[in-house]
Amino acid sequence: MALAATQTPPREAMEFDVVVVGAGPAGLAAAIRLKQLAAAGGRELSVVVLEKGSEVGAHILSGAVIDPIGLNALIPDWRGKGAPIETPVSDDRFYFLGPAGRLRIPNLLMPPLMRNHGNYIVSLGNVCRWLGEEATALGVEIYPGFAAAEVLYDDRGAVIGVATGDMGIGRDGAPTERFSRGMELKGKYIIVAEGARGSLAKVLTAKFGLREGREPQKFGLGLKELWEVAPRQHRPGLVQHTLGWPLDDRTGGGSFLYHYGANLVSVGFVVHLNYANPYLSPYQEFQRFKTHPLICDTFAGGRRIGYGARALTEGGLQSIPRLAFPGGVLVGCAAGFMNVPRIKGSHNAMLSGIAAAEAAYEAIAAGRAHDRLEAYAAAVTAGAIARDLRRVRNAKPMLSKFGTMLGTALSGVDMWANTLLPGIGFGYTLKHGKPDHATLSSASQARPISYPRADGSLTFDRLTNVAFSATNHEEDQPLHLKVRDLALQKQSEHDVYAGPSSRYCPAGVYEWLEEGGKLRFQINAQNCVHCKTCDIKDPNQNIDWVVPEGGGGPNYSGM
Ligand SMILES: Cc1cc2nc3c(=O)[nH]c(=O)nc-3n(C[C@H](O)[C@H](O)[C@H](O)COP(=O)(O)OP(=O)(O)OC[C@H]3O[C@@H](n4cnc5c(N)ncnc54)[C@H](O)[C@@H]3O)c2cc1C
Ligand code: SF4
Repeated sequence: MALAATQTPPREAMEFDVVVVGAGPAGLAAAIRLKQLAAAGGRELSVVVLEKGSEVGAHILSGAVIDPIGLNALIPDWRGKGAPIETPVSDDRFYFLGPAGRLRIPNLLMPPLMRNHGNYIVSLGNVCRWLGEEATALGVEIYPGFAAAEVLYDDRGAVIGVATGDMGIGRDGAPTERFSRGMELKGKYIIVAEGARGSLAKVLTAKFGLREGREPQKFGLGLKELWEVAPRQHRPGLVQHTLGWPLDDRTGGGSFLYHYGANLVSVGFVVHLNYANPYLSPYQEFQRFKTHPLICDTFAGGRRIGYGARALTEGGLQSIPRLAFPGGVLVGCAAGFMNVPRIKGSHNAMLSGIAAAEAAYEAIAAGRAHDRLEAYAAAVTAGAIARDLRRVRNAKPMLSKFGTMLGTALSGVDMWANTLLPGIGFGYTLKHGKPDHATLSSASQARPISYPRADGSLTFDRLTNVAFSATNHEEDQPLHLKVRDLALQKQSEHDVYAGPSSRYCPAGVYEWLEEGGKLRFQINAQNCVHCKTCDIKDPNQNIDWVVPEGGGGPNYSGM
């Protein structure tokens, strides 16, 4: 039974100058820069950051090799301030893999923008924890465990704040003894920093038509394990990327493997979500990748200590939506600033947070509120973010159009042209074509794939791995994975596409179960690691990911 509106107590409201949604690199950079500007200008400025994870960093999953350009701009003396950034890249390798062999691409052939010297291998989650401490020290209020569930508008339709979700609503929609009403957090401007496929960003994009005239956003699913390897296998500073096996040439994606810290190795695999075969399992492709002769030795005698998954944006320059709407802006991967060939987005996330903060500060100082921060959009278009993305704008469309081998070669030539003729290149910008949910073939036209069984030491089954994400949700709450039309799910997702959700979900949330001769769509929502793939890849856009109770989800440590 749903809670009747008349029974619902009113929400308490708190007023701030700026409300930031999401404590990732983009949101924390915005909050820090706002406070820096206020201190320099001798003004009082209140800034709040909402984070759905149980703590800052709990939902951050990244590679990560970071380009320090963003951090240098935000906190130039980060070394002296004890940032957890300790392993410089010392060896940078790129391979094409075949089933048993490999071909190393000489570093000299790589466009300079692809080189990693000068970058650092980190846990982005730990960098965010540290940024959170820096922000708090500057007076930013950070509320972990509070998910922004709803956008608040004024009479003219401008955004004036967000509301956190009610806590203690049972599975049946009725309040339990844990019930407490959500809070309204109002601000002159709202900075939406939810990362790839943000749930509020999705609502705002539709409401304000932010994608009109833009190419569709493209996505990949990134899966990652964190390993503690045997000391003899550890090569601190080694960064290795691969393309090719186990994916076929028409399926985009590749791997990363980073050695850092105390015998730590981040190993991960990205599958582009415009894949066609509904029988493909990104999770199983990742497990298979680890068995390649080039890779498997790294893990002999080691142990996997973490697992997780997260979508990343791949559309680049031509997919950037309109960035400003009345009362707020999109920053970081919520806007899609990821550089795909470099597999890097954290630098642009920070740069965009800084640019949004500067525009918001100026507007507030001029007595403005709830209007469009067009100065932010202009700063992105004229600045380092657009320059970074312009040079690689044709890489993803070339991979989609020509396959991995030819697409990589052509995009290499294109990136060289953009390097040698800055700002011009070959002059064209390719389109992406269909959105990722529209790229699946029907099951009748696809080849089933059989994957090897997990061995339990190098490869693991999905649910065993999910335990290493420390995911936890309050069980007695409404499902946060909303299927709009269950009949359509059966007629199309199951009958036409053979249930790809049971394979693309990296946490085994979706199952088609047969009970008494009838099929049932089972949703094990408590396992969800908040990667957002279902919201992106469901062929009918029939699944909406909304925030669960704050604090639920993965509890990543060092990811
Ligand atoms: C597998 C993988 C490998 C990657 N490797 C690299 C790399 O090597 N180098 C690199 O630079 N980049 C890498 N990236 C990209 C990089 O992680 C992102 O570009 C960066 O994290 C984006 O920062 P962000 O702040 O925009 O979003 P995020 O880092 O996603 O942070 C968003 C935050 O907002 C919170 N949030 C979301 N919605 C809500 C809500 N409604 N209410 C409250 N809180 C909310 C989330 O819990 C999260 O903490 C990688 C990404 C993946 C997935
Ligand atoms: S249910 Fe959706 S968001 Fe959650 S882990 Fe599975 S695919 Fe990702």
